[in-house]
Amino acid sequence: MLGLPDDIRAFLFDLDGVLTQTATVHAAAWKDTFDNFLRAEAARTGGPFTPFDAVADYDAYVDGRPRLDGTRAFLDSRGIELPEGTDTDPPGTRTVQGISRAKNDTVLRMIREQGVAPYRGSVDYVRRLRALGLPTAVVSSSANCRDVLRAAGIEGYFDVIVDGLVATRDGLPGKPAPDTYLAAARALGVEPAHAAVFEDALAGVASGRAGGFGAVVGVDRVGQAAELRRDGATVVVQDLAELIPDPGPQAPGKPEETPA
Ligand SMILES: [Mg+2]
Repeated sequence: MLGLPDDIRAFLFDLDGVLTQTATVHAAAWKDTFDNFLRAEAARTGGPFTPFDAVADYDAYVDGRPRLDGTRAFLDSRGIELPEGTDTDPPGTRTVQGISRAKNDTVLRMIREQGVAPYRGSVDYVRRLRALGLPTAVVSSSANCRDVLRAAGIEGYFDVIVDGLVATRDGLPGKPAPDTYLAAARALGVEPAHAAVFEDALAGVASGRAGGFGAVVGVDRVGQAAELRRDGATVVVQDLAELIPDPGPQAPGKPEETPA
């Protein structure tokens, strides 16, 4: 079915980096936020300033995860322990919540300034699924998922949305746990074995594997095909357009009729 095994009947898409070109915006916002924090820490402790790596650190610790989990995972990688704080901490407060809030403010500002572009190949793929009457869902850790879908003009293509707000409301652990993807499959009435997960993040393909999904499509936007396979992808593509079957040679045109 559209480049996947025939028994796949439902299609579950990550948002940032799969449907929309927003993974790079998130990486830039995390870098801005963590570098501000790390520079202040270096000044405070007299230690060296080692900046956030927008590729290696982003992929390993924050991409695909709920925001607070990402903040904790990166700080942990640097051996930094901060108080949790509360969701009323002003952005930039020296707490997990304060840093996370600064990142969210930054990403929202960047999205406002730059707009949101969907990936053309992903939009074509989802349109074909819809034309075949196949069910689709978006499964994103983002709390801004609906706004981003709307800004990209693709909100109407999905039957179910499981985003960061739904996960918080329903107490679902975020990626790499499989729970948000499993909730989407359940909402579509399809067993995981008959559903496909589309993910660009290492944490995301890991949740596809952990959920026992019938196909886990790793979408490799940054040259990490081997890592995507290692962590759970059963197929790796650079763009969803690669899954759209070749229409084949055009039927030969009818010779023009010459009026008698
Ligand atoms: Mg993603």
